Amino acid sequence: MPRTTPMADYLSERDGHLFVDDIDTTKLVEEFGSPLFVMSEQQLRNNARRFHAAFAKHWPDGPVDIMPANKANWNQGVWAVLADEGLGADIYSAGELHCALSLGLDPNRISVNGGGKTDETLRKCIIEGVRITVEELNEPERINNIAKELGKTAKIRLRVKPDFPGIWRRTDFAVESLSVDLGLQIYKAGIPAQYLEELGREVLKMSNVELVGLHFHSGRWRSDTWYWKKLMKGYAELILRLSKAWGGYRPQELDIGGGFAIEADPLHGLKTRMHAIETFFTYPFELLAHVFGKAGRYKFMGFAIEKLMQSKPGSQRAPTIEEYAEAAVTTFRDTLLKGGMDLKGIRLQAEPGRSFFGNAGIHLTSVKRFKKQTKPIKLNWVLTDTTAFFMNTGVIEFSLNDFRIANKLNAEETHVADVVGHSCHGDRILPTVKVPELENGDLIALLDMGAYQEISASNFNALPRPPVVLVNGSQADVIKRGETIEDVYARDIIPPHLRREEKIA
Ligand SMILES: *Cc1c(COP(=O)(O)O)cnc(C)c1O
Repeated sequence: MPRTTPMADYLSERDGHLFVDDIDTTKLVEEFGSPLFVMSEQQLRNNARRFHAAFAKHWPDGPVDIMPANKANWNQGVWAVLADEGLGADIYSAGELHCALSLGLDPNRISVNGGGKTDETLRKCIIEGVRITVEELNEPERINNIAKELGKTAKIRLRVKPDFPGIWRRTDFAVESLSVDLGLQIYKAGIPAQYLEELGREVLKMSNVELVGLHFHSGRWRSDTWYWKKLMKGYAELILRLSKAWGGYRPQELDIGGGFAIEADPLHGLKTRMHAIETFFTYPFELLAHVFGKAGRYKFMGFAIEKLMQSKPGSQRAPTIEEYAEAAVTTFRDTLLKGGMDLKGIRLQAEPGRSFFGNAGIHLTSVKRFKKQTKPIKLNWVLTDTTAFFMNTGVIEFSLNDFRIANKLNAEETHVADVVGHSCHGDRILPTVKVPELENGDLIALLDMGAYQEISASNFNALPRPPVVLVNGSQADVIKRGETIEDVYARDIIPPHLRREEKIA
């Protein structure tokens, strides 16, 4: 059987080849080289509209702003599309702020987040009129002083960190095996709830600061809607408590952050698999296998790897954005209404990252060699021209992405192999997956690579990072050029006394 897991709308099969809109992926690598990151303009536009509709459906009280997390994909060519769709942005750094402002995004829909903001960044935020999402206790006072100096009023929101004692299911985000509520406590972001009442009272008295709303973002600690219902109930209860403590304070906007999974949820696919293997198979099992003698043990472990440890990318499905929006927004809204808050005119904001960009991008990589061994243990490797170092966040988050053999979509999957990168690391991008017989030059497409991957690429082994193209219909434009070897070494400086020409002279 060839692979039949669902793919995004801009991907299709024609004559056994994978197409991005109207372009054959094999033509893309012929023109732009391999490996290659590809983003779909139409999918970005569809996501912009789909996400807005999903959240607006359950928030009849006021406007809804979709403010994607810039960090998940900060290519300016990508953001030019989002600017055209009128979206806002969640921003974390001065560099990201530059991206949003230079593309002309509406400052009212730009939220600048993060701890340790410099005075220079705060000054820029106040001058440009973007929202400052406060992370630290001393930040409002710093902002007030700078705003006073500038003769302006800064618009701020407090990023809150509620307690969530009811979120007892296990998180897949933390390296430790923990309940979500403990995981969220360990996560550094947000102002601890214990300080909020007092901080808010002080902020409301400040002369040059306007508290326009509240913000909460925790991230994708679990992919189920159960988690979202619990989160939003806890957040809404904290908002009600603060509103009361602040003399009936009514926010203009409430931001529920991001953290929705990609539908073909690649995150932690590897960790789940490793966990199962560690529990049931490897070490104790492998020790026991010594009873078969040396040859028997290898044969047995070869069998276990091929048959039992196989990973199945794309088999894990997360809720759709419509399901997330319904669970999150209805719980949030119902809790606020029940607590007596008047929601009329309040803006609802969401900051999706991985779920927004993920399905809008793929990574193409060519097969260099199908390497096989049968002794002492049967193993196969598909050596590619890419590396896990070009998808660093995927490694950190133990991602297991779905894939296609882009020039042989209908080929039978006859082997089990590790699809590996060509750095000197183990570089197991897809461990023990089913693949067809492959040869030099075959093309592999890793799916759902639009969030957090290319923008986290590093130059390990002095490998130049690949280009990014944006496809729309039958048009493909380079939005980030590939690096050259000169680029890789462009920042290196050899001290004068070690320079060869100086030594010779
Ligand atoms: C990272 C981040 C997001 C996006 O998170 P995802 O899990 O990618 O959806 C949203 N808001 C803030 C403040 C973030 O730091």
